[in-house]
Amino acid sequence: MTMQPIEDTYDAIVVGARCAGSATAMLLAASGMRVLVFDKSPLGADTLSTHALMRPAVLLLHRWGLTERLAKEGTPPIRKTSFIYADHRRTNTVEVDIKPRLGVDALYAPRRTVLDRVLADAARDAGAEVRHGVQMLDLLRTEEGRVSGVRLRDESGGTREVRSGLVIGADGRRSTVARLAGSTPYVVGRHTTSVAYRYFRDLPVDGNRWYFRPGMGGGAIPTNGGETCVFASVPHAFASGPAADRAETFRQVLGQCAPDIAEALLSARAVSKLHFFPGLRGFLRQPWGDGWALVGDAGYMSDPITAHGITNALRDAELLARSIIEGNDLSEYQTARDDLSLQFFEISDRVASLDWDIPTVQHYHKMMSQEMNREEEALVALTDAPATAA
Ligand SMILES: Cc1cc2nc3c(=O)[nH]c(=O)nc-3n(C[C@H](O)[C@H](O)[C@H](O)COP(=O)(O)OP(=O)(O)OC[C@H]3O[C@@H](n4cnc5c(N)ncnc54)[C@H](O)[C@@H]3O)c2cc1C
Repeated sequence: MTMQPIEDTYDAIVVGARCAGSATAMLLAASGMRVLVFDKSPLGADTLSTHALMRPAVLLLHRWGLTERLAKEGTPPIRKTSFIYADHRRTNTVEVDIKPRLGVDALYAPRRTVLDRVLADAARDAGAEVRHGVQMLDLLRTEEGRVSGVRLRDESGGTREVRSGLVIGADGRRSTVARLAGSTPYVVGRHTTSVAYRYFRDLPVDGNRWYFRPGMGGGAIPTNGGETCVFASVPHAFASGPAADRAETFRQVLGQCAPDIAEALLSARAVSKLHFFPGLRGFLRQPWGDGWALVGDAGYMSDPITAHGITNALRDAELLARSIIEGNDLSEYQTARDDLSLQFFEISDRVASLDWDIPTVQHYHKMMSQEMNREEEALVALTDAPATAA
């Protein structure tokens, strides 16, 4: 199929077509804006993730008409979350049933090869031009310094300039748009976890299982294809060193904090290599300026230990798109984002220290739950959603 050439001008250009970028593009296009969204990776490419979506993310996907699409792709509904806390003295399990509320009757943990494709398709269905294998190289500016477009390398390898009134960086935690626009972080975390994870078959789990032990964490999350994503988190051990040593650490950490999973792995079948995330301290960056904005990890990243990045990305796509469509000052987007993020970020950072005792981390989890309820209520209050997928 011959690709139409990218046009010379758009109302908005979105750099990065994963959860934040595609969701933002979908919402803007559905309001009638001419939107280009592109990603340097191929469509359907995988990325680092343990996939767990929290209630506010499922609420938005439901509102956008996309939970059915995820279910059709074989994403299993998750109806129970178990928190298993252990120290050298005892183990305490807290089970939480996912109660049907506001259209959400289950959580999901879709593989990113599924979620990001479903969102990119929804953006295309809403009228956005969605391109993969296209890389942003530079920002264009007017003589006054306002961002006015991008220089990009297209699918054929040629470079060209494309103009727009607004360039949105949804290009992840190492955002080029943020760097070129001069956005700096104004909140930075003190702690970070390093993570190792792998997919297994023949490892049935009854919902999401999160394990916490002083100095470490782990989990087992059911995802597409009958597979379970098993992960371990520690302060630094997965950041570097021979892969065999890190694989041994993965086994040891699970043996200590998730012994039932470690035992079940003996009869399960590994269907992927071990993936490693070395760790990166979280941050909130200035998310807008003259002619530009940031959404998703590009603007706000929290440590993976609290599995909230995709939820933040979808929420902030909704907040940013709404501000743009309503013609508001983007400072309102920043205020809304920060109001729903700062307390959660602080708790997430404390959990990421892995330096707590069990009553303390349980207290953090209660605080997180309250923050998530507040987040869900804020999204519900935005009743007239700017768009739904067709
Ligand atoms: C180990 C690990 C586990 C995690 N587990 C969870 C979890 O269980 N639940 C959860 O909610 N979150 C989790 N997260 C966080 C989650 O993955 C991120 O928050 C989420 O991916 C952010 O989405 P995004 O769309 O903002 O950016 P990204 O997913 O980072 O996508 C950015 C895109 O921009 C593209 N891009 C970058 N530069 C350019 C350029 N110059 N031109 C064109 N394209 C460009 C990239 O190719 C990329 O596809 C985890 C993160 C890690 C590291």
